[in-house]
Amino acid sequence: MTSPSDNDVLAKQNYLIPITKRPELCFLRGEGHYLFDQNDKPYLDWIQGWAVNTLGHSPQVMQQALIKQSAQLINPSPAFFNQPMLELAERLCENSKFDQVFFTNSGAEANEGAIKLARKWGQKHKSGAFKIITFQHSFHGRTLATMSATGKEAFAPLFEPKVSGFTKVPYNDLAATEAAIDGQTVAVMLELIQGEAGVIPADAEFVAGLDALCKQHNLLLIVDEVQTGIGRTGSLFAYQQYQADPHIMTLGKGLGGGVPIAAMVIDKSVSCFDYGDQGGTYNGNPLMCAVSGAVLQEVLAEGFMAQVNRVSEYFCQQLSVLAKEFGLGATRGKGLLLAINTGNYSGPQIVELARDAGLLLNAPREDSLRFMPALTLTETEVDEGIALLAEVLTTLKNAAQ
Ligand SMILES: *Cc1c(COP(=O)(O)O)cnc(C)c1O
Repeated sequence: MTSPSDNDVLAKQNYLIPITKRPELCFLRGEGHYLFDQNDKPYLDWIQGWAVNTLGHSPQVMQQALIKQSAQLINPSPAFFNQPMLELAERLCENSKFDQVFFTNSGAEANEGAIKLARKWGQKHKSGAFKIITFQHSFHGRTLATMSATGKEAFAPLFEPKVSGFTKVPYNDLAATEAAIDGQTVAVMLELIQGEAGVIPADAEFVAGLDALCKQHNLLLIVDEVQTGIGRTGSLFAYQQYQADPHIMTLGKGLGGGVPIAAMVIDKSVSCFDYGDQGGTYNGNPLMCAVSGAVLQEVLAEGFMAQVNRVSEYFCQQLSVLAKEFGLGATRGKGLLLAINTGNYSGPQIVELARDAGLLLNAPREDSLRFMPALTLTETEVDEGIALLAEVLTTLKNAAQ
């Protein structure tokens, strides 16, 4: 296949339903920390599939897992067990506080599963309680129920009527959460770092308080770790850095390292689906489970998380140097889910200029940049990216003078 010309990209995009503004680039290949466009221009990638490509682009271990598993078994049907499914479920449970797993294809579906399980549990064990407390500015996905659970203001007027039963309260506000609990409340669901909101971490006391509230009122605690899970925040799961005993955790993004797989992982005490309540054609399909298993093996290897934390510290140091030089704000986040306040500069404008300069970034808000590089990041790429960012900021600074 020959590479598409710039004109091809312009013309063929009309065959796609427009759902978001995309730059006129067509990426042809990826290699570790880099993406290459139709003109073979390299970009240092700090988006990485949206905090998905745990090991970067096309790592050997994923290629090998795909080749091996695709030759052996791609789809026996969800009505049967398969080996990668069993092994991945065991591995997730052995490395967390949880006991059982249901695999899905996307983070939104994993959260749908969590919402369904909570409602089923409420039906069986809490007199039909069904309301779930979620948080303002949260993001839980784009199915109808997960959009209803999401606390993004822009979602509020869309696709009415929404799925009912979600009470939104301010994040990091324990008193407001407690005040929102009533006899019909069954669960509290939160991101431990609100990713799409702009990398806003939950306070330690808030999470400890939520955990206590859930125990006191017999509520399920659901942590949406679709973005924070699988090493992203410097521990295998973010809940491990908090004083919390969640009943349900959802995973996605980094779990597949770039392939579509997600999971709902639960405490067996809340396991209550009857046969037929939950399913899905591709759930636990061996191809994706095998790839995810290969990704997880790397993340669990001796020294992997220690390096994530070392490079995170270095990244934060370099960001604060940059902040001083250009009058940016504070750095926030954990591990390799970081953000910085852009001060007087526009986040989206920096993103565009950085892309031209060969650095892919995300601006989750007008005043912020988010960094979600591969977890295999080293000091070398940090230096390279920071230098590109400094170049862009210098251009903007000079233009403003
Ligand atoms: C991305 C994300 C989701 C949705 O995952 P999809 O795979 O896009 O459905 C849900 N929750 C959080 C916290 C996310 O970051």
